[in-house]
Amino acid sequence: MPPLLRTVSSARASGALREQLGPSTGGASANRSSPPQANVLAGVRLRGDDACVKVTTVAASTTAVRTFRCRRCGHEQDAEVVGLGEGVQSFLNASGTAERRAAEDAQRGLDRTIARARCPSCKLRNPGVMAGFAGVFVAIAAGTMLVAIVLGFYPTWSEMNMSEHDKAICRWLMPAIFGGVLAIVLPIELLKRWPRDAYVRWLPPR
Ligand SMILES: [Zn+2]
Repeated sequence: MPPLLRTVSSARASGALREQLGPSTGGASANRSSPPQANVLAGVRLRGDDACVKVTTVAASTTAVRTFRCRRCGHEQDAEVVGLGEGVQSFLNASGTAERRAAEDAQRGLDRTIARARCPSCKLRNPGVMAGFAGVFVAIAAGTMLVAIVLGFYPTWSEMNMSEHDKAICRWLMPAIFGGVLAIVLPIELLKRWPRDAYVRWLPPR
């Protein structure tokens, strides 16, 4: 069966981008003048078809038969599996890039789905599957917070020409912003990727 492609959103981001480039907020950056992003916007205008930054997100799903092998009880069984994928392209990519990436990701999604399936015989998932799944999220959260702390302390460590008050704001503002984004994004991504047994339809044992 060919991958089913579905355009989820095709966001014309120019308005949002211009809003971001508007008056700078936040104490830490208030000292700087002339936002450098203005150049980026000019570049966007030259390249965009109608002065817009176009970001396309495509979701794809595909169905195929995969063989499950249980490392606990040795059970083997075929299943019809649904693989989900996502693809993103910007105006820099050739058209159809998001569709191609989504289709490729859906193919990998087939293997992800069957790898995380619950064994139909012993009703358990293969060892390490959930630990590996959770580990990726823990690693992303830890890495992001490390970056936030480094960014927050950078004005202090580098003795930047900035008031002590602004440096203090920076130290807690950066971890607060990054932590806030994680608190929104991580649960959404976790729910989206959580193993769904409904995506595995067991075929009669051979
Ligand atoms: Zn088993």
